[in-house]
Amino acid sequence: MQGYLSSFFRGMRWAGRYAKGYFEPGRFEPSRDPSLTVEATNTCGSKCIYCPNSIMTREKESMDMKIFKKTIDEYAAMGGHFISFTPTIGDPLLDKNLIERGRYVKQYAQFASLGFFTPLQWLHRHDINDFFSAGFTWLGISISLSGKESYKSFFGVDRYEQTVKNLETLIHENNRRGNSLKLTIFLVPTDEPIEKVAKHPDLIRIKSLLGQDSKDCIEEQRGAYVDDWHGNVKLPEYLRRTPLYPRYFRPCRMLFSGLTVHSNGLVDACRCHNFDATGDLILGDIKDTELNEMWNGVRLKFLRDNWKSKSKVPDICQKCRSYLY
Ligand code: SF4
Ligand code: SF4
Repeated sequence: MQGYLSSFFRGMRWAGRYAKGYFEPGRFEPSRDPSLTVEATNTCGSKCIYCPNSIMTREKESMDMKIFKKTIDEYAAMGGHFISFTPTIGDPLLDKNLIERGRYVKQYAQFASLGFFTPLQWLHRHDINDFFSAGFTWLGISISLSGKESYKSFFGVDRYEQTVKNLETLIHENNRRGNSLKLTIFLVPTDEPIEKVAKHPDLIRIKSLLGQDSKDCIEEQRGAYVDDWHGNVKLPEYLRRTPLYPRYFRPCRMLFSGLTVHSNGLVDACRCHNFDATGDLILGDIKDTELNEMWNGVRLKFLRDNWKSKSKVPDICQKCRSYLY
């Protein structure tokens, strides 16, 4: 009985939030300071259990430097402030031009922060001093620290030892530099008892390296909802799928908050879920059109208006569990 009651109250609280969100001031207006996500590469060496990396059909490539510079210059000219290198699919550490790209962004004083998510498997490919001087201010690290078997079962590859070593180097070098880089370590959800994870010597060692900061730096993702990428990824039983929230006449917040430029130059109205960079959300190609034109142009306006007034939901958004109500 208690279980039913708590589900009921949880449902009521969600319904309250859902209703309130619709009437939030500016809910259906494009941001005056849109963010920009630059997918510098769509190559990733992992095969994470909840990721469509292995079914992506796009060619794996790093963004051409000319296209990259054009993108950054145009975003700077728009007066933008928020750049991230977190790709839709990919590991920025596999991009050979990563340091050069960071430095290019850093020359613009208006970009106060720059960072990306990574599984950290390839940090050792970069000179650590160059890495720290490239202008990055934050990193989100996706990892498990409970042994090579559980690591492999989640990431699909055998890179546990090197990854842990990379993490130790990163923390050590960051400590030496007064923690100039804001690190957040996301412990991915694995199918093993929490006690085993908590007591693992690798996790304990990493916590002691982080010292006082470990409470703020480490986020446990166990129990968190995850996406199945429009039904394209078959999730194992132990992972909880994010509910499919209703979206009639209510365009996703993502369409109002910023743009992604994919590694092939295609510009996407969605910042994180169009893994093959196809369909209605693609606004054009940065090689031919200016970023400002795509953000303020008719195509994106049409997508938002059509969804809001006629409930015409783009195909890819219909079954998307990352829909932001
Ligand atoms: S979730 Fe990230 S790290 Fe994992 S396979 Fe996908 S792109 Fe790579
Ligand atoms: S519903 Fe999903 S695919 Fe559509 S814009 Fe939102 S996050 Fe992107």
